[in-house]
Amino acid sequence: MKYLVQKFGGTSLANSELREMVAQKIIRAKNEGYSPVVVVSAIGRQGDPYATDTLLEFVEKISPDIPPRELDTLMSCGEIISGVAMVATLRAKGYNAVFLTGSQAGIITDDCFTDAHIQEINPALIHKYAHQDAIVIVAGFQGVTKDGDVTTLGRGGSDTTAAALGVALNAEAIDIYTDVDGIMTADPRIVDDAKTLNVVTYNEIVQLAHEGAKVIHPRAVEIAMQKNIPLRVKCTFSDAPGTLVTAQSENGPIEIQKDKVITGIAHIPNVTQLKIITANYPEIEDAHLKIFKAMALAGISVDFINVYPEAVIFTVKDQVSAKAIEILQNMGFAVEAVPGCAKVSAVGAGMAGVPGVMARIVEALAEEKIKILQTADSHSTIWCLVKQADMERAIRALHKKFKLNE
Ligand code: ADP
Ligand code: MG
Repeated sequence: MKYLVQKFGGTSLANSELREMVAQKIIRAKNEGYSPVVVVSAIGRQGDPYATDTLLEFVEKISPDIPPRELDTLMSCGEIISGVAMVATLRAKGYNAVFLTGSQAGIITDDCFTDAHIQEINPALIHKYAHQDAIVIVAGFQGVTKDGDVTTLGRGGSDTTAAALGVALNAEAIDIYTDVDGIMTADPRIVDDAKTLNVVTYNEIVQLAHEGAKVIHPRAVEIAMQKNIPLRVKCTFSDAPGTLVTAQSENGPIEIQKDKVITGIAHIPNVTQLKIITANYPEIEDAHLKIFKAMALAGISVDFINVYPEAVIFTVKDQVSAKAIEILQNMGFAVEAVPGCAKVSAVGAGMAGVPGVMARIVEALAEEKIKILQTADSHSTIWCLVKQADMERAIRALHKKFKLNE
């Protein structure tokens, strides 16, 4: 079987005109000789009647205390509705299509409700229906534990479903359809003249996605990368070629990036910077270690960590900053907190060994009078923490400085 996994995000499925365009993409793949396995997200965004957020709001009005296990079963409904809607759309056109839940598609996860990880895939039913020449529609974002409990995969979960199925089915490619032309040099909602990237490496996109480019989930890229399945990000509403994400070519960076040190700019808004001067507490042994252990124990994920002999600085999401500060204060530390920050990252495999990249970043932000609160770099990413109010200007300034619009 020549499988092609096609994933459609919620914005691509919201109404019948859009579903018509989705159907055309599926039918085209079928006519080209592929067995399409289609992964769907829930319909629409916050406020739409069948969006996952709407379902949650409905039940949380009754009681906010819904156990994660039940939450997951509820949150898996949105994809079932959109999946069956797609079956109906295709059948109305005379095509044989079947729908499978995550469980029916054999997506086995751990029992970490609301953020489960896929452990294995038993795609027997997918093979069965594909051999009967049916178009198989699979609910994204959901799986099932070995014991039979329904789970969901967390943010970007449908991307992960698509990638995992692509690997399990040894698909020709995994096509992620969305509402923009592909992976762009920055979020097009912030940078008007952001450009679509033609070909990029898995590694760069993993970085961009980890640093906030929400067009694709990093876990999905990591999964596709394991088996080298080509990943393409395309637009549901156009025939633009989109972005091909693939392995690093043997001769270094892929040609298209040769003259570019930066591939793209990503951002994570709404974080709080926390600083603790550990040197003030000589009586506390292993203060650094204790701080990070306490955060881990409370399930607070920390990011942008700078450790110095006399201090530690890191960021947490704004929503959990009060909890983090309370824990640290209870441990006896005074905490300097700067809420309302944003992490802006410049990512590019081409920057390795190129001198002066950081200098250009500092210059670009200084020209805009943007204060850098914290910075760090690796061989392929430079991170800057700025105030949230400066975030969009910082992204545009960096985009321009590195000529990403050209
Ligand atoms: P879907 O519902 O299809 O999964 P998402 O909203 O998750 O769609 O992802 C698409 C959105 O990602 C785009 O509308 C765009 O605003 C945003 N985005 C952020 N960074 C980028 C980027 N570098 N390239 C393209 N889109 C981006
Ligand atoms: Mg998405």
